[in-house]
Amino acid sequence: MKKIYSRKNYYIGVDVGGTKIQASLVTEFGSVLANYRCETPRNGVAHSGSVHDTPVEITLNAIEESIRILLREQNRTLNEIAGIGIAVPGVVQQETGSVVVTPNMNLSGVELGRIMKDRFGVPVAIGNDCNLGTLGECWLGSGRNVSSCVGIFVGTGIGAGIVFDNHIFSGAGQAAGEIGHIISQIPCENWRNNIVITKHKRKTKSSKSNLPKLPRCGCGNYGCFETFASRTAMERFIREAVEHGAKSMIAELNGGTLDIIKSGAIAKALKANDKVVTPIVRYAAQVIGYACLTIRHLIDPEVIVLGGGVIEACQKFMMPIIDAVIANDQLPSVSGKRRILISSLGDNAVVLGAVALVRSINGSNPLRKTHRIIPKYPQLHFMAENVIHIADEPYTKDFFILADGTIQPRLKLPKKNIHSFRLKDIQTATSGGVDLIIFGSPSVGEITLSGKCHDYLFRRGIDYQILPLNEAVHLYNTVTVRRSAIWHFS
Ligand SMILES: [Zn+2]
Repeated sequence: MKKIYSRKNYYIGVDVGGTKIQASLVTEFGSVLANYRCETPRNGVAHSGSVHDTPVEITLNAIEESIRILLREQNRTLNEIAGIGIAVPGVVQQETGSVVVTPNMNLSGVELGRIMKDRFGVPVAIGNDCNLGTLGECWLGSGRNVSSCVGIFVGTGIGAGIVFDNHIFSGAGQAAGEIGHIISQIPCENWRNNIVITKHKRKTKSSKSNLPKLPRCGCGNYGCFETFASRTAMERFIREAVEHGAKSMIAELNGGTLDIIKSGAIAKALKANDKVVTPIVRYAAQVIGYACLTIRHLIDPEVIVLGGGVIEACQKFMMPIIDAVIANDQLPSVSGKRRILISSLGDNAVVLGAVALVRSINGSNPLRKTHRIIPKYPQLHFMAENVIHIADEPYTKDFFILADGTIQPRLKLPKKNIHSFRLKDIQTATSGGVDLIIFGSPSVGEITLSGKCHDYLFRRGIDYQILPLNEAVHLYNTVTVRRSAIWHFS
């Protein structure tokens, strides 16, 4: 591939988590060129000890090292880096770059921004991981082109972020967006329990504690959304059911254990219509639906983006249930222009959000149209006899043009319906975030998009066009949005 970048056109996004650190090399137009991943140090040694007991210096060195290794592996120097964005799982003072508290890590009270700026000598911005995940989705993912978006990420817990007018809304005390900790079941005594009713010859019996029995959340409160719909909550419900004698295949699907139940195992159990897992996930999906409804009633964003391991794995089952809760809302609104979508960027949302944040402190917030940098897309020429020329080179076999304008051959599976696209094709073509995907073929009538592929694009708000080669070439060359294409010849 021809290098079209000049100096200082690269950024680094780092996602520091309780279990792993991901550092990514990103172009100014948001193409993730390379990732480097390592374990978050535990007590100095990966895999053993607690991340809490690890000396801060060891964690700081691991973050620094991940960036240096990434640069080395990619043959890049710091002179080419315009800024570094770092995401941490906790409360962060974005303006000063200091970490206030990280409940599941050892970075509380650390001036992470200043320390990394001293070590690298380039601008550094830090933010909360869920806020940055939402910012990433607003730049290139499912929240692109809207002015208000809320991201909800369902995994071990439920994290969230709010983006308003191209900026993270973090509240007066940097604590906004904690949607997982909104109290959804009120932990207070019902007044009926304290009133003696005689008219209907009924007297409520008095008991010592009339408080509803609610699970305690990791935050210390009772009745949070997170305690009913996170993966941890589902684990608790599943264990409870199995302990009470309910029959389930989940332990078998999860490698013989019910300690930590992986999202993938939950998805497999759903597929097999497991009698324990199915109602528990249905319940969790309804709770998430009501969480979305709560957000809508409070903020009414144009888009709510759902992401995280649970949603990624169980979306096919959960989304119709979430949709049904939303559709049943009785409170009217003026506009129908509000959508619930699924994350388009997956694992890269956070690092892209981190890059968007450091770009905005550098004065070029990529969420603003004026600062949006469109990749350099190739100019195509339609030739006779079903040939496309790019820079005088003929293309006659299937290929992709990806979101950043790079060309990649498309390999077909033998014996399958050759005119039908696989979900993997769609995922390749939309990776990195696009507004539009163009399908070009000499035989348009033969092209079919499976329900699965259509659903994938619809759930992410991505438009598509299936066109004859010449029209597809014309559209690709003239349209101004972020785009990708699949060229299908036979
Ligand atoms: Zn909570």
